[in-house]
Amino acid sequence: MFKKIFLFVKKYKKPIIAALAVLLFVYWLILPSRLFTDDVSMVIEDRDGNLLAAHISSDGQWRFPERDSIPEKVAISITQFEDKRFRWHWGIDVFAMARATFLNLKYMKVVSGGSTISMQVIRLWRKNNDRSMWEKLIEMIFATRLEFSYSKDQILSLYLSHAPFGGNVVGIDAASWRYFGCQPEKLSWAEAATLAVLPNSPALIHPGRNRNSLTIKRNFLLKKLYEKKIIDKDTYLLSLEEEIPEEPKPFPQIAPHLLTRFYNDNSQYKDGTSKYHSLLRTTIDIQLQKQINTIIAENAERLEKMQIFNAAALVIDVETGDALAYVGNVTDNEDEKNGRKVDIITAERSTGSVLKPMLYAAMLTSGEILPNALVPDIPIYIDGYSPKNFNKGFDGAVPAHRAMARSLNVPAVKMLNQYGTKRFHHVLNKTGMTTIHFNPDHYGLSLILGGCEGTLWELCGVYASMARTLNHYTTYDGKYYEGDWFMPNYMKTKSIENQKKEIDKSELENSSLFSASAIWLTFRAMLDVERPEQEGNWWAFNSTEWISWKTGTSFGFRDAWAIGLTPRYVVGVWIGNADGEGRPEIVGVKTAAPLLFDIFGVLPSAGKWFDKPFDDMTKTRICRESGYIASENCPNVDSTWIPANGQRFQTCPYHKIVHLDQSRKWRVHSDCESPNEMIHEPWFILPPTIEMFYKSRNPSYKQLPPYRPDCLETLSSQKAAAMEIIYPKPGVRIYIPIDLDQKRSSTIFEVAHRDPAAIIFWHIDDQYIGQTQNFHKLAVNPEVGKHKLTLIDENGEQIMVDFEIIDK
Ligand SMILES: [Zn+2]
Repeated sequence: MFKKIFLFVKKYKKPIIAALAVLLFVYWLILPSRLFTDDVSMVIEDRDGNLLAAHISSDGQWRFPERDSIPEKVAISITQFEDKRFRWHWGIDVFAMARATFLNLKYMKVVSGGSTISMQVIRLWRKNNDRSMWEKLIEMIFATRLEFSYSKDQILSLYLSHAPFGGNVVGIDAASWRYFGCQPEKLSWAEAATLAVLPNSPALIHPGRNRNSLTIKRNFLLKKLYEKKIIDKDTYLLSLEEEIPEEPKPFPQIAPHLLTRFYNDNSQYKDGTSKYHSLLRTTIDIQLQKQINTIIAENAERLEKMQIFNAAALVIDVETGDALAYVGNVTDNEDEKNGRKVDIITAERSTGSVLKPMLYAAMLTSGEILPNALVPDIPIYIDGYSPKNFNKGFDGAVPAHRAMARSLNVPAVKMLNQYGTKRFHHVLNKTGMTTIHFNPDHYGLSLILGGCEGTLWELCGVYASMARTLNHYTTYDGKYYEGDWFMPNYMKTKSIENQKKEIDKSELENSSLFSASAIWLTFRAMLDVERPEQEGNWWAFNSTEWISWKTGTSFGFRDAWAIGLTPRYVVGVWIGNADGEGRPEIVGVKTAAPLLFDIFGVLPSAGKWFDKPFDDMTKTRICRESGYIASENCPNVDSTWIPANGQRFQTCPYHKIVHLDQSRKWRVHSDCESPNEMIHEPWFILPPTIEMFYKSRNPSYKQLPPYRPDCLETLSSQKAAAMEIIYPKPGVRIYIPIDLDQKRSSTIFEVAHRDPAAIIFWHIDDQYIGQTQNFHKLAVNPEVGKHKLTLIDENGEQIMVDFEIIDK
C-alpha cells in the first residue's frame, strides 16, 4: 500500500509538487487582508481616551471600531468560557472537538460546538449561521489559516470587536457601555463574566426574560474562575451577589454637538475609506466638558422662563488652540424641540459689538488712535445713517479705551469711518474669519455694530490668536510668527501636529496684523468693560483673576455674546434663540456675561497676566486732557507708554492760547486791548457740538470766557465759531416719509451753541421760521427741493448750510 503511494508520488513528483503549491497558494489567498468591512459607529473620545459620544452605524448597529487592546478580565472570562486552550492550539482544539462529539452523541442533540475562538471569528466574518459539518470543516481550515496571519491577541481582539451581544449591540465596547455604562477596562469580574457568556446566546440579555438562565450561566463561569484560582473566594462570593443588568443604558452624550460636527466635517469617516479608523480622539477635557455642561444646564432653566431656549459655550486653550470644552447647545436628550440640536458654535450670527476690540487693535497698530485720545461721541449722520448708543445718550467725547470698554456705538462708527470700512473688512478677513461674505460696501459702517456675522468658534479663534501672538512676542525676541494665527482645533491628531511644528528663526517677521502693544492695550482696556447704564442691578463679578472680556448684543436682541480671555484660556458664550426670535433679556452683559464668569470660575488660574511688550512701546509725552501727543500749549503732560507707531499720532488740537484781560474774566484781542495788558493762557477748547454734551458729563470742563463787550464790536475773524450745525450737514439729501394721513411729516434740525443761554433765530431760504434757546432743535417741514438754512444768534453771528428734500 505505502509502496504503491510511494511509487505514485515518485512517478508524478513534479505535477504533485505543482498541485501542492497551487493548493498552498490558494490556502494563503483565502483570507482577505481585511476581514471585517462592516460600517462602524462613529465614536469620539476626549483627549485622554474617555468616551464622549457615539453615533449609531449606518446599518443601525452599535458597533464600535475594532480595538487594538484587550480588556484583561473580559479576555480571561471569554477564553475560560469559550476556548480554554485558546493560547495553545493552532485554530482547532482536537480535545474540545472530541468532547463535543461525545456529548452531542450522548444527548442526541447539539449541546456543544467545540469551536475555538479562531473558528468563531471565521464564522462571524463569513456571516454563516449554517452549522453543518461541511461549514464546520471550512471554518477549521480558515481558522488554521487565520493563525498564520494574526497573533493570539489580535484574534481575540477581532472576536471581542465583532461578537454579538444581543439586540443591535456588537462588540465588547458597545456592550460594556450599553449594559454597564462604562468602558470594558472598568468592568468587575461579575460584569465581565456576564458579557463573556453572551455571544454564545445573545438573546439571554433581553430584560424581563431569561434572567435566571443568564444568572446561572454567569455564576457557572464565575465558579470556574474561582476553581482555577483566577479570582479569590471573596471576589467570587461578592460577584455572585451582583445584579444582572436591566434596561440597556443610553450611550454617554457628553459632547453631542461635537460628535455631529465631527460626523459632518469628516466625510472620510463616513464614506468607507477610513471608517475602520480607530476611535476618534478629540482635544476635549471630559471633566471640564462635564462641568460646563452642568453650568449650561443650570442656566438653561433660568433662561427658559424668559423664553430663551439656546445657549452655547466654548473653552479654547490659547497656546495650542485646542477646544477643551465644546457645548454646542443646551443638551436635552428627551426633548428635541427649541432648536437644541443646532450646533450654535458653528452657526453664523450677528456679531453685535464683539468686533470693536479688533478695530481698536487695528488702529493702535497703525498709530491712528491712542488709548486716551478723545473720540467724539455726538449725534452723527453718515450716509443717511444715524447710530445711537446703547444708553441712547451722548458724552461729547470719550477716551478711545473707555469708548471701547463701554461699547459706545458712536465713537466706534467714528473710528471706523476714519479707519475705512474697506481696510477693516480686509483686517477681518486676515484674522481668518470666513463669515464676512459680502463686500465692504454691502456692510458700510454697520460692520462695527453687528452688520456682519460671525461664529463663536471663529471669534474665540481670533481672540486666541491675538493672545498667542502676545504671549510669544517676548519668546520670539520681539518678533511675530504668522503661524500663530490659526483657528481652533478639536482633533487630537491635528493638535499633536500643531505642537510638533518647529519654528525657524528666519520665519519670524517684524510686523503682524495686530502689533504686540496694540493687543496688550486692547486686552488692558477689556479688563475695564462695564455695564451699559441701562441696567439697574448689576451683580459684582467677583473674580480673583484678571479677565479681559467683551460682550455683544445684536440688533433686535437676538444674540447675546460674551467672550473673555486670560493668557491661558479663551472662553466664549452665546445666548439666544436658534430660530432668531428676539427677547428683551437677550443682552450680552446681562445674560451671557454671568455664564462667562461661571466658566472662568471652574478653570485653573492663568497665574500672571500678559507681560507688557516694552519692545513695541515708546514713552511719550501725552496731553492729560485730550490724550493726544502733547503740544507746547498743553499744560498737563504725562509721560506714557504708547505703541511705537503711536508717535505718528496727531498733537493735541484742543489746547489753544487764548488772550484774557487782567481780570481773567474776559477775552480780548489786539484791536481792543494792548498786548502788554493781555494774559496769554492755554485753554482746553472742544468744538461746540462736542462741548455741548461734554460739559454736562465733565463738570471740570471750563468754558471759554466771553469777549469783553467793548471787544465784540471790533471782533472780526479771530473769534472762534460759537455755533455749529449738527444736522443737516452740507449738501445732505433728506427724504421725509409721508404719514398715514397723506401728509409729509417733519424732520428735526439741530444746532450747538457755546453759550447755552444764547437765542438762535432760524431761517429757511431767508424766511424766519422760529427761534430756540437752551435746546437748539427745531422740527421743520420744507417743500421738496433745494433749500438754505440760515442761523443767526443774538450776537449777530451767522452760519448757513444747503440741503435738499427729496421726493423718494
Ligand atoms: Zn492738550
